Amino acid sequence: MNDSVVNLSRRGFVVSAALAGMPQLVKAEKTAPPEPPAGPSNPYTYHFKIGEVDAWTISDAYFPIREGLGLMWPEESREEMKGLLSREGRETDSIPLYANVLLLRKDKEIILFDAGFGGSNRRTVGWLRHGLAQIGITPEQVTAGFLSHAHSDHLNGFVAEDRAAFPNAAFYLRQEELDFWQGKDPDFSKSKRNKKSLPGMIKTVRKNFEILGENTKLVKDGDELFGGLVRVEAAPGHTSGHSCFRIRSAGEELLHLMDLAHHDLLMFADPNWTIAFDHDPKLAVVTRKKYWEQAAAQGTRCYGFHLPWPGLGYIVQQGRKYRWAAEPWRWA
Ligand SMILES: [Zn+2]
Repeated sequence: MNDSVVNLSRRGFVVSAALAGMPQLVKAEKTAPPEPPAGPSNPYTYHFKIGEVDAWTISDAYFPIREGLGLMWPEESREEMKGLLSREGRETDSIPLYANVLLLRKDKEIILFDAGFGGSNRRTVGWLRHGLAQIGITPEQVTAGFLSHAHSDHLNGFVAEDRAAFPNAAFYLRQEELDFWQGKDPDFSKSKRNKKSLPGMIKTVRKNFEILGENTKLVKDGDELFGGLVRVEAAPGHTSGHSCFRIRSAGEELLHLMDLAHHDLLMFADPNWTIAFDHDPKLAVVTRKKYWEQAAAQGTRCYGFHLPWPGLGYIVQQGRKYRWAAEPWRWA
């Protein structure tokens, strides 16, 4: 619908309302509602519970990636992927990228899982700080931030204007991720990623790691923190130090899948389908299959950084395929 159609139909409504003797409606037309404010216009915080812990999912970003299925591998399966998207009524010429940031509050601990893209002049990117403000949390109140891996959509939000964006937060990551980026020559030989962007990307990651240096705390596969609330799990392939997180409270569990899936149909219909952002696609597939099999068998409640907002759901096995069963929204 364009503006002229809106204006015409509105004018038509006013005339017919006046004829019907409804002066209050005509009066209301004179004070048109203000334009919506610039900035995030979608719903972007959603509260839920994990046992006794308060949790929020905060949308940091949403935009379509124009390369679309050109980013997906193997190349010979792209027609099949397109058919699937088309049958499900999805766009076939782009891949929608959601960035969902998980936040937990337990007593005085306020814990972030990745921090999104950070400051950006793109209207649909970098909403985390708006989301935190909406639920009344200042950057200074955040006590911990876990990093799954160092790609810009996960790491950059931890830094603002060359300083730690959350100055009082410990910054947790695994040694493997730090070592990969700080190594002399990070190995991207197995990745389908556009190699032109690599030098700039490596430079930014190193700079951000340096800024966060004082706050950094290294964790290992299997480590449990905050009295068992957060368990760190090695989930290599997307990057060498890519981690998933298992959150447990009062008998309930949430498995944060991070970047094991970038789409709610593609990586589930066939876990062998990979995205160009994977550093080691074969290993990413092995890890994904392990997690899908286990989460489906155990009926684990899951959460995806890149799955459609608000990112909660279950993995359902159907023969050799899987399906992402998004959890319906609940108003509470
Ligand atoms: Zn990502």
